[in-house]
Amino acid sequence: MKWTSLNELREKFLSFFESKGHLRLPSFSLVPQGDKSLLLINSGMAPMKKYFTREEEPPRDRVCTCQKCIRTPDLERVGHTARHGTYFEMLGNFSFADYFKNEAIAWAWEFLTVTLEIPAELLWPSVYERDDEAYAIWRDKIGVPEEHIVKLGKADNFWEHGTGPCGPCSEIYFDRGEKYGCGSPDCKPGCDCDRFMEIWNNVFTQFDNDGKGNYTELKNKNIDTGMGLERLACVMQGVDNLFEVDTVRALLDAVCDKAGKKYGEKTSDDVSIRVITDHTRSATFMISDGVIPSNEGRGYVLRRIIRRACRHGKLLGIEGAFLRPLSEIVISQNEGAYPELRAKYDYILKVIGLEEERFNATIDSGLGILSGIIDAAKSEDKSEISGADAFKLYDTFGFPPDLTREIAEESGLKINEDEFTSLMNEQKARARAARGNISGWTDSSKNLLSSLPETEFLGYESTECEAKILSIITEGETAEELSEGEFSLILDKTVFYGEGGGQVGDSGEIVTSDGAKITVLDTKKTNGIYIHECRIDAGAIKVGGAVKAKIDVSRRDAIRRNHSSAHLLQAALRSVLGTHVEQAGSYVDENRVRFDFTHLSAMTAEEIARVEAIVNENILTAEPCETVVTSPDEAKKMGAMALFGEKYGKLVRVVKIGSSSTELCGGTHVSSTGQIGLFKIISESSVAAGVRRIEGTTGLGVLTLLSERDALISETAKELKSPNVNAIAKKAGGIQAELKEARRELDAANSKIAEMKAEALLSGIKTVGKFKLLCARVDMRADAVRTLADTVKSKYPDGVAVFAAVDGEKLNFVASAGSEAVKLGAHAGNILREISAICGGKGGGRPDSAMSGGKDVSKVKDALAEAENILAKI
Ligand code: ATP
Ligand code: MG
Repeated sequence: MKWTSLNELREKFLSFFESKGHLRLPSFSLVPQGDKSLLLINSGMAPMKKYFTREEEPPRDRVCTCQKCIRTPDLERVGHTARHGTYFEMLGNFSFADYFKNEAIAWAWEFLTVTLEIPAELLWPSVYERDDEAYAIWRDKIGVPEEHIVKLGKADNFWEHGTGPCGPCSEIYFDRGEKYGCGSPDCKPGCDCDRFMEIWNNVFTQFDNDGKGNYTELKNKNIDTGMGLERLACVMQGVDNLFEVDTVRALLDAVCDKAGKKYGEKTSDDVSIRVITDHTRSATFMISDGVIPSNEGRGYVLRRIIRRACRHGKLLGIEGAFLRPLSEIVISQNEGAYPELRAKYDYILKVIGLEEERFNATIDSGLGILSGIIDAAKSEDKSEISGADAFKLYDTFGFPPDLTREIAEESGLKINEDEFTSLMNEQKARARAARGNISGWTDSSKNLLSSLPETEFLGYESTECEAKILSIITEGETAEELSEGEFSLILDKTVFYGEGGGQVGDSGEIVTSDGAKITVLDTKKTNGIYIHECRIDAGAIKVGGAVKAKIDVSRRDAIRRNHSSAHLLQAALRSVLGTHVEQAGSYVDENRVRFDFTHLSAMTAEEIARVEAIVNENILTAEPCETVVTSPDEAKKMGAMALFGEKYGKLVRVVKIGSSSTELCGGTHVSSTGQIGLFKIISESSVAAGVRRIEGTTGLGVLTLLSERDALISETAKELKSPNVNAIAKKAGGIQAELKEARRELDAANSKIAEMKAEALLSGIKTVGKFKLLCARVDMRADAVRTLADTVKSKYPDGVAVFAAVDGEKLNFVASAGSEAVKLGAHAGNILREISAICGGKGGGRPDSAMSGGKDVSKVKDALAEAENILAKI
């Protein structure tokens, strides 16, 4: 057995199975395509389900892969066991109704014992206890002694997922020696300790389960196997756990460096070091496959993983951000097998760095609050934290619930989960209610469609057609005839495009042979049935009647131009910003194109200009556009960009817009890029974290935009009194400068006036009892009044100043009292409290200085007179 690097092992496995007639496929994305049952790919078999079910033809009946996998159920075990990561690679060979147990077992054995030269006595196969066939193969054909074959029950060695195909498994364990054992006399494969490590699982899909406990033999039996690449490397490199395997170790060492820790000194530190190592790998690969941190679905898995890594960094005492340089190591260690990592280098680092920054900001405030909550719970001898507290941390501070849970558990506290869940559900219900009901069609009106055939769509080739009325639906019921009002109309054929794929529905006109006239306002599509939203303008219609349908061609042409420009825009964005750009949504109507895409930062003015220029170059070369309907495989060969996560049927429509863009799309398009005329970006903005939006327009829309801008310029020129429109910028600049100068002069004049006013006011100071009083309505800005009051205070130690200032509707009082006056019993705050009450206001303040408001301006005089009364009495 020779030391072999992880990258070499991957290659050895794949070429071994190629030599056995297998087709080598690249790893599928971690994001499941067209499979809503799974958040993230967790095995080599997961992305091949479609081949096992024959929903799609496999490219060959023998296939082998090395598949990137994420397993969140193993999250809590990571770092604690030797053999679990949330990210790992799974080697696998697959047979789609081709070879079965005999070959699978023999090849697995050959690969391990001959190719890799692992000593046979260290390998222990396990079989399902009732699978005599597999047992016999191991014992008789391979020659494994009986005492080295373990029989395990259904829980361990029978693969089953509800009803449908299922079957026994046979695993291969590697004996790492007694030193890894738990010491129990029963310790053998299947024990959860680290001695016998499962490296390879062979699943023999043999039966069909009808759900009632009946198992029938499948006609077409399949093989699905999975071997953890890191676990195998662990064996071949003789290291303790999968974090010490060459490529992973490089990362682990970097974590130690960063933390200033030595690996192997303290158990809890080692766990944190391994967690960070694993989580950086997961995060890097998830981001490269297009996952963006968010609060939902796989985005939340990513967020959680990044945040967990950050937190373990804090446990190790790492200060500040540290994930980017670690992610760089993941990229450099893996780019050979996964070139997409290098292609998306900048993007990956940016996403990981941003999320870490965001979290650091949250965590610092959240941790403080949480430790307060924990202390309080402990001092009250409670065993749990209330659901309301956990919810508040999440809802108000964005502190992740699982982190609250983990930290609480470290202090022996639980969270009141029922209360927490019910608060979360309430919040979700509120959010749903706020979104409202968007689909206008109720379920009962949808039922009305169930008996109708799919509509034949002729709108790709024609703009008008003859058709027959199949159904008239008005106010939620079908009607035989109709002569007025708004209704939905279903025909056997149509040229009207039904809203879908981000393109609005067509509008137009339908006429009958006996003169009825109908306006089509909009068209929708559901389950292949086109629903025309109509209004009767003249005459009557009835089911079975013949009609002529004609779309609004100029509107459709404008929609076409916008839709085709969206495709060119996507291609241009990818060439300017990078291939991490993926469509996140789009909307096109006759006026504009709106395109959402994954990208982290705002585009610069230059990037926008470059994208715009590329699209327009593609337009001006007037290249032909074509559509082909073909198989998904053929489409892929043509280089078609498919929509992320979308499910496509047996046949797909490939749209080629010029030479730069090939996409799967069901929309309507121009036949030459030249028909688009011109493309103009109107705005670039952010829609969500990591998603940008461009809005633009084409063709006549650009002309409209230009006319509007021209009008705006003329109007501006008029307002600026600049007959020469080209001079408006200069003119506006000049006016700004003039304005600035005028303001400066005005300010100077104002302060002069204030000074004079102050002098005049001060001359009005009079003696009231023990005090000097200056009492006046001044109507200056609040800060000026305050300065005035301060001046009185410093000039006259025995002085009291009370001012009322009216500014529009607002009435303010300001008062001050000098040091001597305060000693003698004057209190600015109390004076204001009393006098502002006269004007219906409130407020007060310190003895030497106070401010308050009031409402009734007509009583200002009385209020000021009262100030004098108060002082006279002291
Ligand atoms: P275990 O019981 O050790 O968790 P498993 O039964 O979950 O393993 P399978 O679902 O049979 O494993 O997956 C097939 C192979 O993938 C395993 O034999 C192992 O080599 C590898 N594997 C499974 N889970 C992980 C993991 N979390 N990290 C690394 N490798 C794994
Ligand atoms: Mg497992």
